[in-house]
Amino acid sequence: MDGRTIGILGGGQLGRMLTEAAHRMNLKIAVLEDSEDAPAKQINGRHPHVHGSFADPDAIRELARQCDILTIEIEHVNTEVLEEIAEVGLEITQEGQITRRRVKVQPNWRTIRTIQDKYLQKQHLRSLGVSTADSVALPANSAEALVEAAESLGYPLMLKSRTQAYDGRGNFPVRSPSDIPAALKALGKRPLYAEKWVEFACEIAVMVVKTEDGASEGGGDSTWKRNTLAYPVVETVHEDSICKLVYAPSPRTSLVSARCTREAEIIARRAVAGFWGKGVFGVELFLTDKNELLINEIAPRPHNSGHYTIEACQLSQYDAHLRAILDLPFPPGPGGEDSVRSSGVQLKSNTAAVMLNILGGSGPNSHIPICRRALETQGATLHLYGKGEARPGRKMGHITVIAETPHGAQRLIEPLIHMANRVRS
Ligand code: ATP
Ligand code: MG
Ligand code: MG
Repeated sequence: MDGRTIGILGGGQLGRMLTEAAHRMNLKIAVLEDSEDAPAKQINGRHPHVHGSFADPDAIRELARQCDILTIEIEHVNTEVLEEIAEVGLEITQEGQITRRRVKVQPNWRTIRTIQDKYLQKQHLRSLGVSTADSVALPANSAEALVEAAESLGYPLMLKSRTQAYDGRGNFPVRSPSDIPAALKALGKRPLYAEKWVEFACEIAVMVVKTEDGASEGGGDSTWKRNTLAYPVVETVHEDSICKLVYAPSPRTSLVSARCTREAEIIARRAVAGFWGKGVFGVELFLTDKNELLINEIAPRPHNSGHYTIEACQLSQYDAHLRAILDLPFPPGPGGEDSVRSSGVQLKSNTAAVMLNILGGSGPNSHIPICRRALETQGATLHLYGKGEARPGRKMGHITVIAETPHGAQRLIEPLIHMANRVRS
């Protein structure tokens, strides 16, 4: 299909599913991970791997030497070295000659750098005219600084780490001043910001594919119509700040109405159009109890809320990411050539999906019975990531159930959700 090798920074489950999609098109993958047994490395046996941290400049340079294009499955990577590789190039020694070679990084390092600091990300979104919850950067990790932030934001508020956040691990709800010492202790020495509490009716998400390098400047700019396409809007359910369920589409049609999904899609595409480079982006939004849509955060990579696309869409988020970063074509939408932009990637006809994350429980094998049950469930596909030892709350795999209707998919997955609840309790 394509002689190019794609280097992935990170080798977890997203890298693994990206590798699966790449293999189907005979694309080569090289993975950088500090674990020899990382999920993506396990299924990429014959291809080059780099052992190391995605924060280590030398390990990233080594990966870049082995590939034609670099991408990420996690945003917490060293962007200084990505900038150097993309802009200055790498020194390559061949038969005594030193040459310089630039390696493409997708999405652009500026996008990764902006997004990996959640406070900078929010400021950028606001500069594009996209609504987010009010937030205040803390000048110091002190009780005084947090009290001052609370004066403008009110209680409760969410104290968040600006960097290294995932699965809610950088979040601490501060319900009153008495929570402040525990919050500062829990989030330690990381740079922090405080966010206004959002009373949300539900959370929704949209996968958006960006197919051109340039970034729009927001406002009345309509670049987003040309350089992005969207997947369906889904409802996500989080428990203890970890994604638990994804409904595609939401069965709650009076809440997640046609108007809401139309608006969410436009907001998400406008937001993604304002970042640099190509690839898929996961956009998380709050639908507030006042019916407003606020962006919670954006991930510059395949995303948990897009796993359902593997079974439920003609093109998975992983296929779309590969096509976008390699400039490969997309199929036309139902209305012809141009309509793929306006109609995006749809659910297959007569298809609705529910995705349930399989999280680790108290024992190393507590999640196994649910996997067996998934195999007995009509319409269910089981994905296990090969993570080894289960820990409470660790994402070990997921199950996607598809049916002809949202309620049909809900009925089929119900017993699995009950089992998952028992594993967690
Ligand atoms: P992810 O794994 O999605 O990257 P994360 O660690 O970056 O997670 P967030 O997405 O910021 O964390 O928050 C996780 C969850 O916590 C949200 O999906 C939402 O349920 C809740 N949450 C976050 N911010 C707020 C807020 N300002 N008000 C109310 N709830 C919030
Ligand atoms: Mg996040
Ligand atoms: Mg999130």
